[in-house]
Amino acid sequence: MQDLLKKSAIEQSEAIKNKEVSAVELTQATIERIKSIDEKLGAYNSLTEDTALETAKKVDEKVAKGEELPLLAGVPLALKDNMNLIGSRTTASSKILENFVSPYNATVTQKLLENLVPIVGKANLDEFAMGSSNENSAFKKVHNPWNLNKVPGGSSGGSAASVASCESTLALGSDTGGSIRLPASFCGIVGMKPTYGKVSRYGLIAFASSLDQIGPFSRTVEDSAALLEVISGYDEHDSTSLKLPVENYRNSLNNDIKGMKIGVVKEFTQEGLSPDVEKAMQNAIDTYKSLGAEIVEISLPNIKHSIGIYYILATAECSSNLARFDGVRYGHRNQDANNLLDMYCKSRSEGFGPEVKRRIMLGTYALSSGYYDAYYKKAQQMRRVVTEDFLKAFSQVDALISPTCPNTAFDLGSKTEDPLAMYLTDIMTIGANLAGIPAISIPAGFDTDGMPIGLQIMTPQLTEAKLFNISYKFEQANDYYKKLANI
Ligand code: GLN
Repeated sequence: MQDLLKKSAIEQSEAIKNKEVSAVELTQATIERIKSIDEKLGAYNSLTEDTALETAKKVDEKVAKGEELPLLAGVPLALKDNMNLIGSRTTASSKILENFVSPYNATVTQKLLENLVPIVGKANLDEFAMGSSNENSAFKKVHNPWNLNKVPGGSSGGSAASVASCESTLALGSDTGGSIRLPASFCGIVGMKPTYGKVSRYGLIAFASSLDQIGPFSRTVEDSAALLEVISGYDEHDSTSLKLPVENYRNSLNNDIKGMKIGVVKEFTQEGLSPDVEKAMQNAIDTYKSLGAEIVEISLPNIKHSIGIYYILATAECSSNLARFDGVRYGHRNQDANNLLDMYCKSRSEGFGPEVKRRIMLGTYALSSGYYDAYYKKAQQMRRVVTEDFLKAFSQVDALISPTCPNTAFDLGSKTEDPLAMYLTDIMTIGANLAGIPAISIPAGFDTDGMPIGLQIMTPQLTEAKLFNISYKFEQANDYYKKLANI
């Protein structure tokens, strides 16, 4: 059974179909693994054992009747704890929502349940998805399964640590500035952010709505493609959802990439990379050359502004989105306030952690009268300029590659006192959110301490099929993905 937990989602669903294992057995084994090792990792805020087993039972009933199974039926999955699952707590790892029980399902949750994917628990994250190390959770830190003294990356650190340690086979994360790709890179797995609008945000606790996208975590590219097929599609509950048919990405995974043009982002490979990351990048270039792709150096001249743009737009949007947590309708309410204003102030002061407060203050400032044009409007204009850089690049190449992060996972506690250093870890991932394009991080080697390195690949909007194809070819030409964290 321990061996089966390490297999890919596609392999596990085959095993269920062929009656080598029942979905209930697989789910139970997954939950047992969580119970035996999660004390060390801190990847889960809560378990949803009953829901998971109920779903698994339905899978087994279908198998017994000889009925066809939906894609990924019976494969255990962790849901980031900022997505609603009816009847379970959705905390966003914040005190303010500590006891909030979801009254409805997020659209992604609904789709998972319809596909009979057992949801085993709610994965830890940085409070309201704000952070890069998962040290901003109000409840507990997440540890990296490859080295417990290192961060797993954030903000979807629990989701990534869960998949990397085989506490689940799949997970969902949300990515506003890199929160799927960075932890995927630090934990040595596949993490993918779809085109903005591909996956419904209904039932995801909003951080910065113009940037937020939900996406899959897995240990293989094929599983990533399959999970995106399950969760994507038009949803009338999300006004930014794209009215497009669900695609089959798995059909084109193995297409020949001979003759494709792959751009290496100049600004991300010139300086500041750790030597091991630089080596991995060179290896990626060599791999693509050997697969017949043409490598071209591409400049994104304005990408250097992306962190500045992001920290104005994301904070502005979050200051507005988080205004609803006022002690009246959701979550924590201070009990000894004298009047309404006092109740708002005390509830919010007690409920939000320091990083969330910093973001709300920065965002409120950027939106305030007299500063709006200088900050918010300027940042909007610059977002367009960065997007144009990408459009220009994609008129010359099929895809862009870079490291996902200039370095591998850092030590717990090493950046907590320096928010700017923490913000800089997203330097290579934020661009894709600003431009709304799909981007992925796939395993691309290890540093001298054995910590995983991630390769980021980006393609134009709505070209997920090509993105998965280019990723799959790299994955299959190397065997980094086969090595699992030893925990
Ligand atoms: N690390 C970034 C931040 O703190 C990105 C977070 C995310 O993508 N949710 O804002």
